Amino acid sequence: MIERENPARFAEIVGSVPVSTPDAVDEIVRRAGAEQRRWAALPLPDRLAALTHAAAAIENTVDDLATLLARESGKVLADCRGELGFAVRFLRWVAGRAIGVYADQAVDDDLGRLVHLRKPYGVVAAVTPWNAPVILAMLKIAPALAAGNAIVVKPSPLAPLTISRVAGLFDAPVRLVHGGAETGAALVGHELVRKVAFTGGAAGGRAVAALAGDRLTPSVLELGGNDPAVFLDDAPLADDAMDRLVMATFATSGQVCMAAKRLYVPEARLDDFVAAYLTAADRVLVTGDPLVPGVTMGPVISAAAQRSAAAFRVPAALDLGRFDADPDTGYFVRPALVVSPDPVSPLVTTEQFAPVVPVLGYRDENAVLAAANAGDLGLGASVWSADEERAFEFARRFEAGFTFVNTHNRTGMSLRAPFGGVKRSGWGREYADEGLLEYVQTCVIHAPAAFRPGAAPTGTGPSAYPAG
Ligand code: NAD
Repeated sequence: MIERENPARFAEIVGSVPVSTPDAVDEIVRRAGAEQRRWAALPLPDRLAALTHAAAAIENTVDDLATLLARESGKVLADCRGELGFAVRFLRWVAGRAIGVYADQAVDDDLGRLVHLRKPYGVVAAVTPWNAPVILAMLKIAPALAAGNAIVVKPSPLAPLTISRVAGLFDAPVRLVHGGAETGAALVGHELVRKVAFTGGAAGGRAVAALAGDRLTPSVLELGGNDPAVFLDDAPLADDAMDRLVMATFATSGQVCMAAKRLYVPEARLDDFVAAYLTAADRVLVTGDPLVPGVTMGPVISAAAQRSAAAFRVPAALDLGRFDADPDTGYFVRPALVVSPDPVSPLVTTEQFAPVVPVLGYRDENAVLAAANAGDLGLGASVWSADEERAFEFARRFEAGFTFVNTHNRTGMSLRAPFGGVKRSGWGREYADEGLLEYVQTCVIHAPAAFRPGAAPTGTGPSAYPAG
C-alpha cells in the first residue's frame, strides 16, 4: 500500500492506493488490450463524446478534486484549480480537433487512389510525474483514447490520488496501475504495450527508453530542463513583468519542468534587476499552507526534495517574499535568489527543481547565448525585450524546444503550440496537432493508376519505379 502524506503537514495521511504487483499489471494490460478492440471499433464521434463527458464530470467536481490535489502535492489551491481547468480545456480541444487530425485522408487522381489511415497503436503505457499529475496524464489519455487506443497510466507514488479519481470519470478504456520504478518497468516492458509515453526525470527516462527500445516499442519522452531566462538590455523591469518572472520560477515551489531556472541580465543592469526582483517577490511570493487563500507557494514534495533544496541555498542567498511556514512540520523551503554564483556550480548547470534561482550578469549577446545553450538540456527558454522583432531574432538562436517571449513557464503555454525538448530533454511532442499524431500510426492503402481496373496498359515494366 502507498500511503500519501500531505507535504504541508507530513503527519497527515491524505489517502492510499494499493501497489500493483507484476501479476496485477499483466492482468490490467491484458484487460485493456481486450477493451481496446471494442473501443477502436466505435465511430470517432462516439469516442470523442466520452472525452467531453469526462470534461464535464471533472468540471462538476473541480472543488473537491482541487482540494485533494493541493493536499497530496503541496501545490497551492489556485494552481490546482488551474491545472484541472486546463485539463478540461485540453479534453475539449482534443474532442474538437481530433476529427480533422484523425480522419482518413483520401485522394483519387491521375496518379491513382490513395487513402491515409490514422490507426491506433493498441495499448499505450503512460508513466507520469507528481508535479502536475492531472494535466500531464491528460496530455496522454485524451489523444490516446480519441485515436482508439486503450491507455494504462502509472502515476507517481507521490501524487496518485487525484488522477485516480479523474481516471474513474471516463467511460473509456483508461486504467491505472500504482507503484514506483518497478511497476513502471513492468508496464513499459509488457508485451502488449505498443507505445510508451513518459514524463519525468533523466534517470527514469533513460530506464524507460531502454526498456521500450529493447522491445522496439516507440516512445515519447518529456524530460527535465534547465531553462534560461535572458533579459536583453532594453527589457523593461516593470512590475508586471517582474511579477511574472518571479512566479515563473517559484510556481509549484520551483518544481516545474519549464520553470525559469537560470536568470541572465546585462552586467550593467544587474543591481537594478536584483532590486526590482526582490520588490516583486515581496508583492507576489507568500510561502505557506497551500489551502490558505493568498498563499502562492507551498512546500516541496518530500523530505528528499527539502534536503536537496537546502543544498542549493548557499549562505549568500537572498531570502524572497513572505514566509509563513514551519519547515519542521511540512517540507517547506524558504525561496531564494543567488546573485552571481560560480557559473559552473550545480545551481547553474543542473536542473535544481527547487525554489532557489541564480541570476548571472552577461557582457554581450553571443556570450549569453553560449551560456544559455551550454549543457545537455534544451526544454524551454525565454527572452525579454521591449522590441518583439529583436526578441524573436534572438529566440531563434536558443537550443530549446519552446521559447517564450516576455514571459516564461505556464503563462506562455498554448494548446496549439507543440511542447517538448531538444537535446537530452526528450523526444516527441505534446499539445497541438503534433501531440495528437503521437498516438496514431499512418497506414496507407494505394492503388496506382496504371493498375486500376479498366486502366489502359501503360507498357510499364514489371519492376519499374512509379511516375509520382
Ligand atoms: P521521476 O522521473 O522520478 O518519476 C516520473 C515517473 O517515472 C514516476 O511515475 C516514477 O515512478 C516513474 N519512474 C521512475 N523511475 C522509473 C524507472 N526506472 N522505470 C519506470 N518508471 C520509473 O520524476 P519526478 O520526480 O516525478 O518529476 C520530476 C522530473 O520530471 C523533473 O526532471 C521534471 O523536469 C520532469 N518533468 C518534465 C516535464 C515535461 O513535460 N518535459 C513535465 C513535468 C516534469
